[in-house]
Amino acid sequence: MWSLRVPALITLLTVEFFALGVTVFVLRANHTFGDAWLTFGALSVGSVVHMELVHTIERVRERGRANTPHMDLKSVWTFAGLLLLPPALSLALVALTCLHQRVRLIRMQTFRWVYSSCAVLLATYAAMAVLDSALPPGDYPGLPSSWFGVSIIIAAAAIRWFVNTALIVAVILLTSPRTTGQEALGGFGNNLIEFAALSLGAITAMAVVHDVWYVFLLLPPLLVLHRSLMLSQYEEAARTDAKTGLANAVHWSEVARSELARAERDEKQAGVIMLDLDHFKKINDTYGHMTGDAVLTTVASALRKEARDYDLIGRFGGEEFMILLPDTDAEALPTIAERFRHCINGLIVISPDNHQSVTVTASAGAVGFPVGGSDLDELLLAADAALYRAKESGRNRTCMAPPVVTSDTAGDAAE
Ligand code: GH3
Ligand code: MG
Ligand code: MG
Repeated sequence: MWSLRVPALITLLTVEFFALGVTVFVLRANHTFGDAWLTFGALSVGSVVHMELVHTIERVRERGRANTPHMDLKSVWTFAGLLLLPPALSLALVALTCLHQRVRLIRMQTFRWVYSSCAVLLATYAAMAVLDSALPPGDYPGLPSSWFGVSIIIAAAAIRWFVNTALIVAVILLTSPRTTGQEALGGFGNNLIEFAALSLGAITAMAVVHDVWYVFLLLPPLLVLHRSLMLSQYEEAARTDAKTGLANAVHWSEVARSELARAERDEKQAGVIMLDLDHFKKINDTYGHMTGDAVLTTVASALRKEARDYDLIGRFGGEEFMILLPDTDAEALPTIAERFRHCINGLIVISPDNHQSVTVTASAGAVGFPVGGSDLDELLLAADAALYRAKESGRNRTCMAPPVVTSDTAGDAAE
């Protein structure tokens, strides 16, 4: 934590200071809990059983976690608690769910966990303030009825989401400056999960007010909902080449097609580079397949480092890589293609089988859009032909696809 930059550190400590202050303030008030203990017990048991049942799902989700607020549906229980419990018990329920999550589910640095727990505590307190001030005296905690009561619950849910998200996004942006606000916020689907959890929290509160045993009927639908949280993981897996983490051929082609359509609309240029490792079969035959795989992953990460944020690198087949370069002039393309090729030439891979150093070279075929082809199929054919020429003329080099001769350009077509 102490290695964070000053603005991030100040944000962290300020949020934690306020969370502590709010907790002390709430705990100092006089409390008579009465029946609320029973509700607290039911919601605590519901939360613990729910999180235990989704243990495996959360482990899988943890692997592909992006730099966005983590949605895990535990606010179903804490929002129900927020509506039904006196403030001190409501905050205690938040603390309990966060503690359980820390011990059993999420592996993250302690200071991150403390911060995100404090963010939930503050968000809960802000929502409490909305409910307490907007509902008639004596109605909170409890379940208000009528359209007015429901709209206040919706406002409290919105405030809870807003405060929590703003605090988490702020610290993501301060600790990873390369992340954009939109990336840190996560997609619409990610935030919809939190709203679904808060809505379910209100419905859970209704069920528990009727009878605490209804908690157990809520668990099966929650489990089904929780499984659907893996959807984004499945989508990501369907787009990705498992060995290198690059885009697979289908996803790369889809993105390339839409980029080319955009370039055509905006009258911009783009580039496509096809890279193929030289004598890769020999590497496999000499050092073994494991070494071949290590070469592929090392090449993939070197290409990724060389690319701009909006370039897209894909793996087509065994040792063939495609690079899509939006907004790239045809004149700049040979230099860029050479840069990508050279970043491979400089690599030294240590064979996992026999610890020998392995080097590799690549040949490239590059083509510009629209000069070298007017759609993706034409560009792929042209890049493939250029790559073939690079191989034929001795490998370890780049060949450019010639401009397409159309009726407009026939007069001045260059070699
Ligand atoms: P060239 O210079 O003409 O491209 O020769 P090359 O040996 O690189 O090309 P060739 O197409 O003959 O061989 C490609 C080899 O790539 C054959 C295949 O066994 C290997 N290969 C394909 N996919 C993988 C993979 O995922 N891992 C490993 N280790 N090898 C792979
Ligand atoms: Mg090859
Ligand atoms: Mg090949």
